[in-house]
Amino acid sequence: TDQLLQVEDLDVVLPSGAGAGTVLDGVSFAVDAGRTTGLIGESGSGKTMSAMAIVGLLPPGAETAGRITWRSDDLLAAAARRIRQVRGREIGVIFQDPLAALNPIQTVGRQVGEILRRAGRPRQQVRTRVLELLDRVGIPNPEQRIDVYPHELSGGMRQRVMIAMALAGEPQLIIADEPTTALDVTTQARILRLLADLRDQEGMAMLLVSHDLRVMAHVADDIVVMYAGRVAERGPAREVLEHPRHPYTRALANNVPAVSTKSAIAEPLQGAPANPFDRPGGCAFHPRCPLAVDRCRTDVPVLREVETGRFSACHLAEKVES
Ligand code: SF4
Repeated sequence: TDQLLQVEDLDVVLPSGAGAGTVLDGVSFAVDAGRTTGLIGESGSGKTMSAMAIVGLLPPGAETAGRITWRSDDLLAAAARRIRQVRGREIGVIFQDPLAALNPIQTVGRQVGEILRRAGRPRQQVRTRVLELLDRVGIPNPEQRIDVYPHELSGGMRQRVMIAMALAGEPQLIIADEPTTALDVTTQARILRLLADLRDQEGMAMLLVSHDLRVMAHVADDIVVMYAGRVAERGPAREVLEHPRHPYTRALANNVPAVSTKSAIAEPLQGAPANPFDRPGGCAFHPRCPLAVDRCRTDVPVLREVETGRFSACHLAEKVES
């Protein structure tokens, strides 16, 4: 497959003061053209930080190491100008809370149109294209919605506007950070269907960040499971969810009835998520892991290929049964 984006050995260290520390430690994954990669983990796992690093939106003062290759550029080393050019055009971004991301005092049409103008569309084509985009993302009667303000729309419609904005730059990749978390279940399902349709029809790749395994089970082709700022496991979605090779993934999957169809072992996930600022030694998951052995407390497990295309950072990956 064709790798569009490659994250290699990414470290992110936040500056001293409250919340200082290595929030990402050696994170590696890829997004293939035309596929959806899901980044999953609890809060503090580093999933959002990984996404933000790609589009140059890390907190000020963050130090980074590793490589983020987008086409032929290393985005970690690229100048701020190049990153701004990539973000919003080559890579579209959808955030969790559209109300916070949209400008409250500009109409929907103006905000979508602004991106088209910046991308160099002739002025006289902008309105028509905005209408097309609103229609494309499933907003009914675009002619009546183009001149409204964000607060006049429902949460689901606002998220569709965000998606229209992300599409306006004709990106090859869309990064969506918890795009459905703020929505009710029915609306969530519709937005997820829309994202899946866009991937299939426009041939776009997607990096979907979510804490919700059900969301992942629906849309992701590949899954990256993160824990305490490291990758715990990755591989094709179905295989990862049905035959986890890491005890953390297994615990996550077993807690979601829709995912764990034939799972024999139902063990609740014990304890609190690891704090990436005060990561347990060895395998960060060891205080919660039912399989932990002595070496788990001292040796950090490296991410290794345990089967073709399946990577796990567990000393006992071969012994994990679904
Ligand atoms: Fe559990 Fe040890 Fe594997 Fe970590 S390395 S997940 S503690 S068995």
